[in-house]
Amino acid sequence: MPSAKEKPRIRGLPRSLARAMESYADRLDVDVVINAYELAKDAHSGQRRASGDDFISHSVEVATILSEIGLETDSIVAALVHDVVEDTDIPLSSIEEKFGTSVATIVDGVTKIGRIEFRSHTEKQVENYRKLLLSIVKDARVIVVKLADRLHNMRTLEALNQNKQRRIAIETREIYAPLAHRLGMATIKWELEDLSFKYLEPNAYKSLGKKIKQRRKERERQILEMKIPLDQAFIEAGVPANITGRPKHLWSIYKKMENRGLSFEDIYDLMAMRVLTDSVQNCYAGLGLIHNLWTPVQDRFHDFIATPKSNMYRSLHTTVVGPYGRRYEIQIRSEDMHHTAEYGIAAHWRYKETMSGRDSNKNSDEADEALTWSRQALEWQKDTAEPKEFMEFLHMDLFQGEIFLFTPKGEVKVLPVGSTPIDFAYSVHSEIGEHCSGAMVNGKICPLSKELKNGDTVEITTNPKQRPSRDWLGFVKTSKARGRIRHWIRQEEESSSLKLGRDMFEREVRRSPMPKPTSSQMSDACLHLGYTNFDKVLSALGRGDVSPTAVIRALYPNEDPQEVVSRSESTLERIANRIRRSNKGVNIQGVDNLMVRYSKCCQPVPGDNVIGYITRGRGVSIHRIECPNILELSDERRVDIELVPSKGDSFFVDLHMECTDRMGLLTDVAKAIGDVGTNIKQSTMQSSEMRVFGQFSVEVESLTELKRVLKSIGNVDGVTKVKRLDEQSKLTRSK
Ligand code: MN
Repeated sequence: MPSAKEKPRIRGLPRSLARAMESYADRLDVDVVINAYELAKDAHSGQRRASGDDFISHSVEVATILSEIGLETDSIVAALVHDVVEDTDIPLSSIEEKFGTSVATIVDGVTKIGRIEFRSHTEKQVENYRKLLLSIVKDARVIVVKLADRLHNMRTLEALNQNKQRRIAIETREIYAPLAHRLGMATIKWELEDLSFKYLEPNAYKSLGKKIKQRRKERERQILEMKIPLDQAFIEAGVPANITGRPKHLWSIYKKMENRGLSFEDIYDLMAMRVLTDSVQNCYAGLGLIHNLWTPVQDRFHDFIATPKSNMYRSLHTTVVGPYGRRYEIQIRSEDMHHTAEYGIAAHWRYKETMSGRDSNKNSDEADEALTWSRQALEWQKDTAEPKEFMEFLHMDLFQGEIFLFTPKGEVKVLPVGSTPIDFAYSVHSEIGEHCSGAMVNGKICPLSKELKNGDTVEITTNPKQRPSRDWLGFVKTSKARGRIRHWIRQEEESSSLKLGRDMFEREVRRSPMPKPTSSQMSDACLHLGYTNFDKVLSALGRGDVSPTAVIRALYPNEDPQEVVSRSESTLERIANRIRRSNKGVNIQGVDNLMVRYSKCCQPVPGDNVIGYITRGRGVSIHRIECPNILELSDERRVDIELVPSKGDSFFVDLHMECTDRMGLLTDVAKAIGDVGTNIKQSTMQSSEMRVFGQFSVEVESLTELKRVLKSIGNVDGVTKVKRLDEQSKLTRSK
């Protein structure tokens, strides 16, 4: 290294920080760091932490964590003053004045995140996440400093009471560790996870730690038994390498044991090693050397150099059967890749030792990639109506493992474990997802719900007529696919509501004795009903959120309500209303011509358990759940519907009756029906020998009324059986 520059001596800074800064102090603006330290020390003077330490010790430690990663001046300065605005009288403006806009932006972001309460109810939580994502997008150093802050707080959690310990540890495990992972900051992520583990499952943590300690000596020997021959092989081949045993983190061991039901020995017998070299070529050369000496274990080779993980991680992974038949898991990577693997997005702001001795910008693409995720998450949030959905998105994206898939042209797609061809289609392009009609996986036709496996080649067939289906939501794994599908469904709902609303409105206007409303009447009505434009009123009408009567009244506010509203709603509107009230899909799937038909085979009435069936081109037909015809109907065209009784409705129901013949029977039955207040529309009687078979067609409002009719008829002398006519009895009768 041509380090001609004399290293400035660092005086006036606490030892830990000075030591961390020493190795690259020539590239830091040490004076500014010292100023920041002085300012923070004065500002926090007299304040103490729960541990009893001076408050400034916290700021110094946070700065030290960042300096150990090799971060630049602004981040170190921001770390030193990160609690000043929140906890002292010094305003943000004076931070900006003294240290510049970047530092002020970071401090402001960190302060705001600090105020976020994550464990609150969903809507608020979404807002919190949104703020967090926004601040990351603004300057990702905000989250880097915040993670260092959280790390130090976790390291000193001992001083707090148990309740606070748990709350902070849970928040760390649920939010900060996944964020660190998503941004590729592995070292911080691991320490956060292990510390959360320590406070959340203290017994498991202790016993696992003890077991590992007991076997440390043995383990070090086993690592050495592999390291010696490896070192030699690399030296002989002239490939530079730094070979080490790699510590495994308690939490990751524990999770593996829990998830796979394995014992400590099963997992711990697997040795973990790492080879650091200088270039991509030498990574592959090193892999060759290793596989030449020891047999690789099938399917345990991963090339994350050719196909990096989405958090920028690059490395070669292999597992070999080493000395004494022990299995060794080996990672091979360059120094460069190593820094990215350890520090992720933070590596972007590291001072790197390059040939010219100056900072290089080659990491900026990588940092951009990590930021893309935050930007995307924000985009989705805009598309998401329901806070719950957004939380789902984030959790899916934060926590899932990844698989690598290929397009027929060999392009790589990285998707979460459990993804399906639909997810794949959406990852290629939203258009492809929206018209996805079939999939070939490794050359074979597969259902769209098939779970894809690592390395699968996926070919999607599309059809311009194909549309997203609500069923897809049942199995898609990516937030992108889920978001797009929901978005599409909402749009469809909106446009079908609008269409239905417009039809209803036009019919209402036609029937109303008033002249056609003017546009100023229409905008007044909007205002009155609380909508921003008349289309919104119409779709609300279509959805059933506002009644036709209310719209008409709002249009003619100065007229007598009785005058402007037409006599009664049409039958179709009544039915449409009822279905909308119960809604569960009818106006989504029967989009274009929402027509409802009561099937003649089983004659459903309100109160019956019913099911809707979407027919081709003839709207929705409604059957009773007992109707034998529905057995033949395919599942995906069924929709759940509830028929709610409504005053003034009438439904025709055919009744079948058996009785012993006697004088005046017909009159008595007719009277029994009339006594309940029900009309008879039609009746036929046939007698054979002493038996009489009758059929009555009655008009009822609901199942309750129908039951009263049946009971009343059943009480008539001579009636042995009375029931609703259904397909089955028709069948028996015709035999
Ligand atoms: Mn802090």
